[in-house]
Amino acid sequence: MSMRTMKPGDVVRCPSCRANALKLRNLKERAFSLRDEDELVLDVDITAPACGACGEVFIKGAVQKKFSDALERLYLARKREAVVAFLAVTDERFHLPRHQWESLLGVSPGYLSRLLRERRVPSTSLEVVLRAVARDPIGGLRMLSYTRKLPKELEAMLA
Ligand SMILES: [Zn+2]
Repeated sequence: MSMRTMKPGDVVRCPSCRANALKLRNLKERAFSLRDEDELVLDVDITAPACGACGEVFIKGAVQKKFSDALERLYLARKREAVVAFLAVTDERFHLPRHQWESLLGVSPGYLSRLLRERRVPSTSLEVVLRAVARDPIGGLRMLSYTRKLPKELEAMLA
């Protein structure tokens, strides 16, 4: 019996680790990585051969598009969430115009809005800064101040 002809309940040898532990499993609630994001937890039902020994998942054929669409959606939501959290905290705490943040972050004017509309995706390093400021606004500002000249009103908050 091969992976392609498997039916629910069948157990097949895993091509990756050779253990007799490959079964059709629902991958919902499992965590996957996509590019620079880890721990994206699948939130839809997708059944594919998965190994109970090594954890390898074999996603092929008809489910592949559904799987990659779901991961892409989770990836974009994760990235957008960093921007939303950053803006929520900075709007509340610092009252600095958005273009000044963009300048401080070293991105072009309007970039934060484009991120919000998912026209762009923040790089890993930008996402780290956004999340650092959102989680610990003063600590995040201090981190920014290591490489950027802060506007006076923000610098005063670090004194
Ligand atoms: Zn295996």
